[in-house]
Amino acid sequence: MKKAYIDPQKCDRSPFCPAKRVCPVGAITQDKAGFFGGGISKVDESKCVGCGKCVSYCPARAITMK
Ligand code: SF4
Repeated sequence: MKKAYIDPQKCDRSPFCPAKRVCPVGAITQDKAGFFGGGISKVDESKCVGCGKCVSYCPARAITMK
C-alpha cells in the first residue's frame, strides 16, 4: 500500500496546514512552531491508510504517495 510522504524541502510550514486537517486518521502532524511560523509537517506511516486525500489539499504540493 502506498503511503503519503511529505517532502520537507517543499513543505511551506504553514501553521494552517490544510492537509493536516483533512486527514481522516490524523496521520499528519506538525513539528513545533519555529521562529518563522509552523514546523514541517510529517506523516505517521503507521497511521496513514493511503487514502490520498491529503495530496490534493497541500498548497505547496509537497505530498506524494510512495
Ligand atoms: S493519504 Fe490519507 S491517511 Fe494518509 S496522510 Fe494523507 S489523508 Fe492521511
